[in-house]
Amino acid sequence: MSGLISRAQNIRYTECEKMPEYWDPEIETMPVENLNKLQEEKLKRLVHYVYENSPFYRKKFDEHGVKPEDIQTLEDIRKLPFTVKQDLRDTYPTGMFCVPNSKLTRFHASSGTTGKPIVVGYTQNDIDEWAESLARGFTSVGLGKNDILQVSYGYGLFTGGLGAHYGSEKLGATVLPTSSGNTERQLELMRDLDVTAIACTPSYFLYLIETARKEGISIRDDTKLKMGFFGAEPWSEELKKRIEDESGIKAIDIYGTSEMSGPLFTECSEQCGIHIWADKFLVEIINPETDEPVPDGEIGELVITTLNKEALPLIRYRVRDLTRKISEPCVCGRTHPRITRISGRSDDMIIVRGINVFPGQVESVLMKIPEVGNHFMIIVDRIGPLDSMKVQIEMNESVFSDKMSDMMALKKKISSALKSVLNLAVQVELVEHGSLPRSEGKSKKVIDKRKI
Ligand SMILES: [Zn+2]
Repeated sequence: MSGLISRAQNIRYTECEKMPEYWDPEIETMPVENLNKLQEEKLKRLVHYVYENSPFYRKKFDEHGVKPEDIQTLEDIRKLPFTVKQDLRDTYPTGMFCVPNSKLTRFHASSGTTGKPIVVGYTQNDIDEWAESLARGFTSVGLGKNDILQVSYGYGLFTGGLGAHYGSEKLGATVLPTSSGNTERQLELMRDLDVTAIACTPSYFLYLIETARKEGISIRDDTKLKMGFFGAEPWSEELKKRIEDESGIKAIDIYGTSEMSGPLFTECSEQCGIHIWADKFLVEIINPETDEPVPDGEIGELVITTLNKEALPLIRYRVRDLTRKISEPCVCGRTHPRITRISGRSDDMIIVRGINVFPGQVESVLMKIPEVGNHFMIIVDRIGPLDSMKVQIEMNESVFSDKMSDMMALKKKISSALKSVLNLAVQVELVEHGSLPRSEGKSKKVIDKRKI
């Protein structure tokens, strides 16, 4: 395999002035049968590796009555037990690791909003693989050596900042590591250094657009920004459209989770799903109720097996993100499967009067209504025996009316649009532009007072 990689890299270097279409053409366009064969070999090797090196997995396999030898084909993966977030919490901090501390290069840790944080360890190979995965993605949307990527994800224990940073350096682009916050300064540097791409949460980019507007700066006309890599929180197709309309840049979906490494995958230039590198990760989509696989193209819970990770490999990790898998090869020529935009996290689901509601559904409805601004907040409460749901919605700056009848009509239009999608009567409250909190990282879209 190393021969293939070095040949591919030679191609890249000899044509370095021309934008390469692929980072690693042989791997990225490998025929599906070969890719499956490669996955099968890697899966077989992986189950032996975790069984021998992780007491956690040995115990889990034994309890499940499965031995590494039982895994001979890709279909056999279904014999293996799932891994869940709670496993990582129960073995805090390093109980699931397969290597001693002396082989680790880095730690990251998730914020422990509920219970203990999750610690993820990386060997040098894990870091290199991570960076390479993103370099492939960046290349697939046309980012190259002449680009300057402003990384406005937080740097530190959170994987977003350092993940995008290393991916961009691997690619050979120039990194501007602004991290999050200090928005005026971010805008100043973006203009002065001719930044061409940005990586941040979609909600932070909205805040950046708004701040720019207040300062009389247009992202479209006064900067060289042409694309943004947005992720770390679910966002809808409708919000993507808004971002593109308001800033004139291409909004690219970037995906990953800290348990798997961090940000790992992006859409390609076709923007028809996010390519998951099959030589590194094995994707399953399951029905979260029955744990059975769903047919290709149907929505379900994403389950990922890491094929190359050394420090903390994960077997059938239930990510809790809901998506669809697209197996047919992409127009871009890449044969690796794609997943569609994350429509929500099963963890983010709120149940109101027995009805499942995802904040993403609310966002999709609101972003289609031109009078509505970019920010909203869902407030769930229980009054007596009944749940109530209220949505506070900021108006679009340019639409404001003193006329009570106009406001009443708009409220009515929003409530009926929400009702038709959520199947739930929702109280709508229109609030002044700028009155809801802005976020410099992951935004908070729900306040559930029933839990307070
Ligand atoms: Zn593609």
